[in-house]
Amino acid sequence: MAVRPDDELRGALARSLEIDLLLGVRTAPLSFNPRLPAPVGRRSRPAAPPAARSASGVPPAAAPIDVGSILAPPTPLAPEELAARKEALRALDEGQVKGCTKCKLCQTRTKTVFGQGNPRARIVFVGEAPGHDEDIQGLAFVGRAGQLLTKMIEAMGLTRDEVFICNILKCRPPNNRDPAPDEISACWPYLDEQLRIIHPQVIVALGRPAAQTLLRTTESIGRLRGQWHDYHIGGPAGADAPIPLMPTYHPAYLLRNPPDKGKAWSDLKQVMQKLGLKMPASK
Ligand code: SF4
Repeated sequence: MAVRPDDELRGALARSLEIDLLLGVRTAPLSFNPRLPAPVGRRSRPAAPPAARSASGVPPAAAPIDVGSILAPPTPLAPEELAARKEALRALDEGQVKGCTKCKLCQTRTKTVFGQGNPRARIVFVGEAPGHDEDIQGLAFVGRAGQLLTKMIEAMGLTRDEVFICNILKCRPPNNRDPAPDEISACWPYLDEQLRIIHPQVIVALGRPAAQTLLRTTESIGRLRGQWHDYHIGGPAGADAPIPLMPTYHPAYLLRNPPDKGKAWSDLKQVMQKLGLKMPASK
């Protein structure tokens, strides 16, 4: 049966409302083009490439998801293994990061921001660097962007205590500028060690600097997001099996660009499917 334009409009608005409810913030109204072939109920159609999806202007929440194999939950850690992981993270933070002077950011920081969360997290979220609130409190993602990240995590059916959240840099760049290459080089080993200790099943890179740094590429976030990549602990020659990595938009970007929340939600749904997490019911 032919899909009428008003049916498409209702479908697009329903998806927008679903994303609003799941991510907990209001989106700008969707731009709607009745000629776009994106009606409700086409979740089995093969995924379009990112460029094609971003050109549509319609949140791709209804786009089908190619996740490859689903990762089963890891076997529970023995209490002594969990304690060893906690101790390894504590030692890295207390023994190295807190007193670090390897780059110039040590001169302007208030507190280092190691990151926080579950040492046996299945997902590690990685942003680029602490902001003003994080620098004051010494905690990752506690400002407005952090509140949105909390909503995104909760929309996935998880809590912040179940995941691990950190940044590429452990100190705030002045005026929240992008991390400089020498700062990334100096701080990189800390993040790599965090990932080696936690060894999550999936990494979510939040925003361009995080995605480009983790994947050692200059590709735009618009082209990187929505597709699975590999992160190699210790670099491409590392001995460990690569960890699947999903780039998506940074929550701070989403606060400035609400219409792209649908794309971020689509990326997070891919993560949920890969981990076999229960998908929220469609509204
Ligand atoms: S940003 Fe990283 S490398 Fe630079 S001083 Fe802080 S902890 Fe050390």
